[in-house]
Amino acid sequence: MSRYADIVLPLAQPAYTFAVGEGVEVCVGDAVAVQFGKNAVYTGVVWRLHDTPPARGEAKPILKVLYDKPLLSELQMRFWEWIADYYICSVGEVMRVALPSIIKAKAKCEAEFEPYQPKREATINLVAEAFDDEVRAKMQRRAPKRYEALCELEKAGGVLPRYAVELDAAALKALQKAGLVEMGERDYKLDSEWSRTLLPKLSPAQSDAYDTIQRGLAEKRVALLHGVTSSGKTEIYTHLIEERLSKGEDVLFLVPEISLTTQLVERMRTLFGESVTVYHSKLTPQQRTRLYTDMLSSESGNFVVGARSALFLPFKKLGLVVVDEEHDSSYKQSEPNPRYNGRDTAIVLATLHDAKVVLGSATPSLESYANHLSGKYAYAKLTERYGGVEMPDIIVSDTVRNVKRNERKLHFNKELLDGIAERLANNEQVILFQNRRGYSPYMECPSCGFSARCPHCNVTLSAHQQRGRMVCHYCGYNEPIQRFCPNCKTSELKPMGFGTERVEEAISELFPEARVLRLDGDTATSGTAYNRIIGAFARHEADILVGTQIVSKGLDFAGVTLIGILNGDNLLASPDFRAEERAWQLIMQVAGRAGRRNKRGEVIIQTAEPQHSVYAMVGDYEQVASKLLAERKQFRYPPFVRIVKILMRSNDKENLVKSSLQLGEQLRNRFGGRVLGPVAPLIDRVRGEYRVELMLKIEVEASFSRARAILREEIARLREDKTYRNIAIICDVDIL
Ligand code: ADP
Ligand code: ZN
Repeated sequence: MSRYADIVLPLAQPAYTFAVGEGVEVCVGDAVAVQFGKNAVYTGVVWRLHDTPPARGEAKPILKVLYDKPLLSELQMRFWEWIADYYICSVGEVMRVALPSIIKAKAKCEAEFEPYQPKREATINLVAEAFDDEVRAKMQRRAPKRYEALCELEKAGGVLPRYAVELDAAALKALQKAGLVEMGERDYKLDSEWSRTLLPKLSPAQSDAYDTIQRGLAEKRVALLHGVTSSGKTEIYTHLIEERLSKGEDVLFLVPEISLTTQLVERMRTLFGESVTVYHSKLTPQQRTRLYTDMLSSESGNFVVGARSALFLPFKKLGLVVVDEEHDSSYKQSEPNPRYNGRDTAIVLATLHDAKVVLGSATPSLESYANHLSGKYAYAKLTERYGGVEMPDIIVSDTVRNVKRNERKLHFNKELLDGIAERLANNEQVILFQNRRGYSPYMECPSCGFSARCPHCNVTLSAHQQRGRMVCHYCGYNEPIQRFCPNCKTSELKPMGFGTERVEEAISELFPEARVLRLDGDTATSGTAYNRIIGAFARHEADILVGTQIVSKGLDFAGVTLIGILNGDNLLASPDFRAEERAWQLIMQVAGRAGRRNKRGEVIIQTAEPQHSVYAMVGDYEQVASKLLAERKQFRYPPFVRIVKILMRSNDKENLVKSSLQLGEQLRNRFGGRVLGPVAPLIDRVRGEYRVELMLKIEVEASFSRARAILREEIARLREDKTYRNIAIICDVDIL
């Protein structure tokens, strides 16, 4: 028996060594309770067993081994290690996102420490006599309600968990009294039975794509399914999924956002039955814990639909991972560590399991597309919508010309105004897209130029008229909207620019008869609220849906024939190297919502820069992609280099600048011209903390693991200087 255990705690710290006491039996992967610091008992994971005492001090003992089996498999441990290594953080930080909070219980002292107890569930069981023909015949005649309940139970195999039972309570009681039914108990278990329903037959084009993917996956790990919106990518996924499930393998279906799971899960449940498991971070800790522990004790053959956190479930034999909308930037965790990309990490997980990956998108990321061009990924393309619906017409509307001709009203050019009027007259629906929520992004004084700013962040406050408040979109700080300029006290503040709230108001002014709904971060505050809004719009209880990015994702509305993009310039305004790629993908995604079923749709983009190449080429994926890839190559951006952003934060501005200059110098000594900065980012103060960034660009041909090792080394060296103790240093690998 080993005497020591290195244990990973859910902290930004390396593993610590604890003593394995006499008679304590632990395995690698076990969850244990340990005392760490004066006032904390943590759940940790045993990472390594050995006989080397710690270099300093005495190892504290493991207090308790939790659960009767390891929480992590070897494979999962390698997976966590890979993430920590690649994304430059600690394994403990991976643990923080990977395990549900209840499993990793924490307490002030041992007495208060309460690990998760796997639940037993109450069941209702049929007893043998219930199958007696005579008894049943009699019951059928005399007590049809009871008989019905009995049949329901029988259909379920004689045992049903009590919470799931929707049987007539009185009938059930009577059955129990008659001794035909007993109350029982069992370990709660995931019902992994799945009922095979007929999958939709693939069209010839889909069938070709399916074959291409299957052939490609025979040789390659990853296939990219590039199919325009509504081409039936989902149907192809379902056939691939069924094939894997029928072999008894696990399948993981990843979606970029939780809001998109509802519709998809419904669709999957009609095909694969109730066994489709949904997993994401908005489930309650109890629900997540239960799903995790259920899977721990279940066999393979699980089908999970989830957001990126589902990657950490204890799959036994993963056969396939589908990453839908693979281009979507919400796959990347932006804060806190690990800042991992769910799509890329999915490929790593699949490699560990020797499983296959299908990436799907109407607008593949340049990274994935380049991997197709280089032959690394298999590739299949669907160019037509299912059922032959045409792609919408894209019309670019010149805002400057509209203003000159006096044809722009409020925030709408003539083309869009006419378009909306026509749709309303025809009883068709319209979606209006504006990528800002709130009423206006800032309020300005026309006399002195004052605009209200957040006291904690270096940004203007956005006006939210319905709430009557000015809100910081970075930290949430808010204050009442002021009418008069607090600075010069002479003029009224004027709202500048416009967000979704103001668009909604303008519509009511211009088209008072139209029924309008708004879908943005302020109205879709929960999954229920989101579903309520899209449900109402789908039932045509409104004519116009105004929304932010949320409306570009996954929605399918039969009645929509016009989409207005109110400000294309906004999309291109960001200084980020991905601005154009994003704008283009967003326009294509939004366009995909129009004219889906029986009518050709129209997309009207309002812009002050109509000659911008992004509009001219927008519908031609290959052309835009090759133009952008050429630019990326020339200016050394991904996928030709890997970028690590090193973000430094502190309340102490002077020290921050000093430390960043020093780190910059250290890094330049090692990496030369591959280091950029330090520079202050566009928003250089958030929540009272100052920010400075450095950027490291590593050619893809070079060893990235070597580069990361050097980077870690130099950061550790900087940290040795105790005067920099109040500086936070965060690495963001493969920034999006
Ligand atoms: P995508 O995932 O590419 O956006 P969907 O899979 O949502 O496209 O398909 C668009 C619409 O066409 C859906 O309503 C879907 O039910 C229908 N559809 C696609 N393929 C088929 C098929 N083979 N048989 C029947 N309906 C299909
Ligand atoms: Zn703020």
